[in-house]
Amino acid sequence: MKITAAVLRAVGQPFSIESVTLDDPGPGEVLVEIAGTGVCHTDISFKQGHWPFPVPSVLGHEGAGRVAAVGAGVTSLAVGDHVVMSNASCGACPSCLSGMPAWCPNASRLNNSGCRPDGSSTLHDDAGDIHGNFVAQSSFASHALSRDRFVVKVPEDIPLHLVGSFGCGIQTGAGAVLNVLKPAPGSTALIVGLGAVGLAAVAAAAASGCSRVLAADMNPDRFDAARTFGATDVIDASAGPLPELVRALLPTGVDAAVEASGSPRALRSAFESTHGSGRTVLVGAAPHGTEYALDSRSVLSGRTLVGAIMGLSNPRVFIPRLVDMYRRGQLPMEKIVQTYPLADIEKALADSASGAVVKPVVIP
Ligand SMILES: [Zn+2]
Ligand SMILES: [Zn+2]
Repeated sequence: MKITAAVLRAVGQPFSIESVTLDDPGPGEVLVEIAGTGVCHTDISFKQGHWPFPVPSVLGHEGAGRVAAVGAGVTSLAVGDHVVMSNASCGACPSCLSGMPAWCPNASRLNNSGCRPDGSSTLHDDAGDIHGNFVAQSSFASHALSRDRFVVKVPEDIPLHLVGSFGCGIQTGAGAVLNVLKPAPGSTALIVGLGAVGLAAVAAAAASGCSRVLAADMNPDRFDAARTFGATDVIDASAGPLPELVRALLPTGVDAAVEASGSPRALRSAFESTHGSGRTVLVGAAPHGTEYALDSRSVLSGRTLVGAIMGLSNPRVFIPRLVDMYRRGQLPMEKIVQTYPLADIEKALADSASGAVVKPVVIP
């Protein structure tokens, strides 16, 4: 079918809005009519070539919409279902079979090669193939193709344009807390970097019963949102060394920290803001090749650092939990989402990159 998509013709260049051809859904595939797609910082990283993805291509990986057609063998979804799209995993490796698809060794190939596992393209134009299947969707478009396992049904009364980021940014931040840290009620947490990922971590820490949820960023414009998402304290990280600012509030440091800014310096600050056996989760995505420095004494005391991709979540289990949090007012997405027509996608990405808007969402 003919669809409208934002096509990246060359790395680092603006998208062009084009009419292209998307395959009909094959066996196991699902066609989604996109209602809204969140802009994630990794879209910008891929567009700028900091992370590799072939061109010409269609990016976008926080899509939500309605099922428009299903391929042969799809039984868990039907035309008209409201859905959030998420990332691909193989479903057959030990990690997938253990309920940990985020650790699937085949995930990178399935999400970032620009084609189906059999090498065929889902998108085409008169000149040939366009690389699609980006994070199993390529959803900066009017329609996107995925597979049934990566598409999560959500209730019809949930505004679709608010929940596309549950498939990436929100599950990354909330999952870092709920699936990795699992903080005890009454414990303390620090979240560094208050974009959508960090705010989701704030919300999850508050929902976990943390007695203090410290939220730090260099941009004070984020503090109102942080309080709305459940922060008990906000810290202007530009006001001095973060470990000292944290200890002015909690003299021994926090029990746990989440680094969601992507800055190597912020990781060290978060790590050193925990007490001597505190735990830090890294979710902020830095360009490939980025190195981190830690003082050996800060490690020797017993602190631990772990990374968590996609919040170590199992999307079909975890996204419904995020929907429940949204319903309870614990994820007030309406406070951070700003919508843009697909034709204004360059402005949406620019506003994300500058920090002017927490979660731009493009509407085809
Ligand atoms: Zn993302
Ligand atoms: Zn797997």
